[in-house]
Formats: sequence, C-alpha cells, structure tokens
Amino acid sequence: MDHLTPEKRSWNMSRIKSKDTTPECIVRSFLHRNGFWFRPHAKDLPGKPDIVLPKYKTLIEVRGCYWHRHEGCKDSTTPSTNTEFWKKKFATNVSRDKQNEQELKKLGWNVIVIWECEIASAINSLISRIKTVGIKK
Ligand SMILES: [Zn+2]
Repeated sequence: MDHLTPEKRSWNMSRIKSKDTTPECIVRSFLHRNGFWFRPHAKDLPGKPDIVLPKYKTLIEVRGCYWHRHEGCKDSTTPSTNTEFWKKKFATNVSRDKQNEQELKKLGWNVIVIWECEIASAINSLISRIKTVGIKK
C-alpha cells in the first residue's frame, strides 16, 4: 500500500496537471541537478522515507499538508461530513509519522520534512514572476 498516492492525486488535480511535477519529483530533480546522490523509497526503513541521502545520513520526507496535517496550513482542512471519522484517520497518520520519525532518529538518521505547500508556493511565485516579467517585455 502506498499511502502517498491519494495526496499525489489531489495535488495533481488541484495545482498541476502533469504527473512529473509532483512535489516529490520537484525535490528529486532539484537534488539531482545539484549533485546529490540519493536513493528513492527506502523500503527497509520505518515509514519508507521518500528520499534517502546516505552520504549525509539524512532522509527527506515530502509530506502532503492534507493527509499529514500541516499545522496551521490552509490545506489542512477537515471535511464537514463524517468529521469524527476523518479526525481519527488524520490522527492515525500524524501519530504514525511521529513514531516513524522517532524510530528513524534512533537509527541515527536526520529527518527533513518538506511540506507540499512550501514547494507549491515557491513554484507558484516563480510562475507569477515569470509571467510578470513576460508582460513587461
Ligand atoms: Zn502546508
């Protein structure tokens, strides 16, 4: 079971149409271009971290704000129907994330969490800047 699939889908539908521009892909190609060697999806580690940088003993988790409950984030809404069900589901996700993070740290890994909205806002501001510059010319 890949718990990232639904959030990738929601990302795609809400913001970007192409499959290759998911937040995770953006981070991966950024690292790749900057000469970082990494291993994708470490199945042998708790929570199967998205990106593993063995040389730095560092893991990067790209988290969807909705499913992983980015605190204070506008994308971290709760459905108005079946609210209790969703609250429980979200709480399970959050506690699993925390538990995985603790286990990974115990194993000596540094964990970096990047939220989807952080990547989205960077990309969106870049797009709007390109458009602004383009209009001026
Ligand atoms: Zn967020």
